[in-house]
Amino acid sequence: MKHLEIKIKTTSRSQVVDITSKVQEAVNDSGLQNGIVIVYVPHTTAGVAINENADPDVKTDFLMKMGDIVPVDPSFKHLEGNADSHIKAIITNTSQTIFVENGKLMLGTWQGIYFCEYDGPRTRKCWIKCMEE
Ligand code: ZN
Repeated sequence: MKHLEIKIKTTSRSQVVDITSKVQEAVNDSGLQNGIVIVYVPHTTAGVAINENADPDVKTDFLMKMGDIVPVDPSFKHLEGNADSHIKAIITNTSQTIFVENGKLMLGTWQGIYFCEYDGPRTRKCWIKCMEE
């Protein structure tokens, strides 16, 4: 089956966007009942993570700490001036794999799927591959 694509419009340089419902919609569109879904971000300055979706402060704290760990540093050699964005994307990684049972994403009670923007605002995409077991 061909992969599905979802679009994400970010509004800040660094931002976490909850894409859980968009991924669930893609699973619904695919007709997948039991298997796995791979969520893949085909960008070099964005990534995808799974973490707490109940308290929005977790996203805020995450972005604040990522900024502390990898600040914008004038000594970086990359000419585009977004070396920090690339490094944050490497730390986050580009894909997540989630079980699907009876057509539903199997996430923990407090988990959500985070699209992590590190060089926005931009229009981004995320590829979704649904695979039957
Ligand atoms: Zn760059």
